[in-house]
Order: sequence, then structure tokens, then C-alpha cells
Amino acid sequence: MIRPGRSRAALLVVFLVVALTAGAALHAQDVPLERVLVRTGARLEWDPWRGHGVFVRGITSLAFTVGNRFVVENGDILHRAPSPGRTEETLYFSDEFLQIAARVFPPEDRAPRRIGAIFLDPGHGGRDPGAIGRHEFNGEVRSLEEKRIVLDVARRLRLRLVERYPDRLVVLSRSDDTYLTLEERTNRANEIPTGPNESVLFVSIHANASLNSRASGFEVWVLPPEFRRRDLVTAERTGIADEGVLSILNTIREEEITLESTLLARSVLAGLDAMVGDVSPNRGIREESWYVVRNARMPSVLVELGFVTNREEFLRLEQGEYLQRLTDGIYSGITNFVRSFEEVGRE
Ligand SMILES: [Zn+2]
Repeated sequence: MIRPGRSRAALLVVFLVVALTAGAALHAQDVPLERVLVRTGARLEWDPWRGHGVFVRGITSLAFTVGNRFVVENGDILHRAPSPGRTEETLYFSDEFLQIAARVFPPEDRAPRRIGAIFLDPGHGGRDPGAIGRHEFNGEVRSLEEKRIVLDVARRLRLRLVERYPDRLVVLSRSDDTYLTLEERTNRANEIPTGPNESVLFVSIHANASLNSRASGFEVWVLPPEFRRRDLVTAERTGIADEGVLSILNTIREEEITLESTLLARSVLAGLDAMVGDVSPNRGIREESWYVVRNARMPSVLVELGFVTNREEFLRLEQGEYLQRLTDGIYSGITNFVRSFEEVGRE
């Protein structure tokens, strides 16, 4: 029997190598390991010392050995296909093998990937007002606190999302004027239970301030791709003790999340642009290691609604009608992202 720790470790190494060498052709008719994994949705348990591998998904398995023409389904059904090949870096299979694998692991059994929950995080709160705008209008000084604007938008957004997605969790980090630390916000998001193939979206909502009173407009922040999150995959979650393997798995997962965050950011930015782009400048996508975004183990963006320090924007941000337009922009950004995220998963 294959030792699970070792075979998993080997799988990850093979997977990474395949990812790195994708495009390096073996033979024209060969199917790279990566394609078998994607097509079947199975994982590979691989014993490099015996040249023996098993594709596994749920209770279904398909075993093969390099140099052997037999392929064994669920331990007792025999198929024949040209022997899988092996290089120092990866495995490759015949088209016949791929056809067998596709029949053994039919696509309809696969749980499509899904956004299980949306976590909305209005910034600041309680003793932390966030940015404060103060302007004089006809001799009267009016002020506006970031914590109130962002809570208003987050609540409006939650209402629309709950209506659209009655079967998903839509969670607010805070629903009133309370103070939460950044750790508390990310912990709450990370504690949301998810099923297999389910992700949580993390959307933090803020308003801006600048020493330059002319600065105005909306923007969306994501994590820069080069940033390394180390604890996406932990030994206690996976049962893998090997530090090197955990770091490889972390890198793969991190790149996936960074890509998804960027797609979500683009979608939200486009939604905002469509709703308020006529009056508020689109400042684009920004990348920074924001604490909130950095510690969330899920696709995460931070939306800046506008500048309370800008006189014209202040007047807009005072109005419920404008906050509703901002809400509708973020809403369509999120729902468009969810639709395409789940469509891709369905192939
Ligand atoms: Zn803020």
C-alpha cells in the first residue's frame, strides 16, 4: 500500500513541475498529467519509487503503472491502454487512457465550484470613525464619517445580495456602530463554514481621505501577486507535515486566490464605473498588502467609495441616492464575478 504522506507529497511535486513545464511538449499525441487531472477532477496518488499511480475522486479510483498496459478501475475492472510514460519531471498518458479516465470519472458527478458565502466588511466603527470630511456650506459646517457611509452601503449591499442569493450566506463583519479589530474581521471571515469546492468572497468597504482636497473618485485594491501568504494551507488542515510540500501547495493556492481577487476587483470596478463613472473618476485597481486583504484566506478586495475630503464628493456621499448607486455598482460587480466563477467551474 502507498504511504499516504509520501504519495501526497509526490503528487504535489509532480503537480508543481507540470505547472512549471506546461507547454514543454513530449510527443504530439501525448496527454500531460495536468490535462488528466483537469478533465477528471480526480487527484493523483503517486508512488515514484514503484512508478505506480492511482487517480482518486470520491469512491472511484483508476490505477496504473508505468510500463504496464493495464488500467484498473475500482480495484477490479480491467482496461487496456498504452503504458503511461514518465520523464524526470512529469507523467504523460495516451489519448486512450484519457478516454478511459473520462468515462470512469464522468463530469456530472463533480461538485461544481461555487461561492458559498459573501463576507461584507464595512471598515472602522465605534471609537474608530475612519476618515472624516468637514466642509462649510453657507456658513454651516457639516461633517461626514467614513464608518457611517460604509456601514450604510454594506447594509444596502447585504439586502440586495440576500434577495439575489437566498441559498448563500451573506455576512456583515459588523451590522452596527461597533469597533472591531482587523484580526476580528478576518477571523470572522475565515471561520465561515464552507462545503467542498466552495469559496467565500471577502469585500471590505471604505471611504477615502486625502490632504489634496481635489482628490476624488473610487478605486478597488487587491493583493499584489508577488506577495506571499504562508498559512493558506497548514499542516493541521491537510495532515501533511512536510514543510516543503506545504509551501508548494501554498504557492499554488495563493496564485489561484490572487487571480480570483484580481478578477473580482475588475468586475467591481466595472460595476462602479457603470453606475457612478459619469460623476466620479475611476481611479482603477490598486495593489497593496492591506492587512485586511492579506489575512483573508479567500478572494478579497477592498473598495474605496470616494473621498470625504473632496467638497463635491462629500455632497454626493451625503445622499442616500448616491450610496444606493455605489451599492448597485458593487452589487453588479459581485454578481457578475460569481456568475463567471461558477461557469468556469462547470466547463
Ligand atoms: Zn477606511
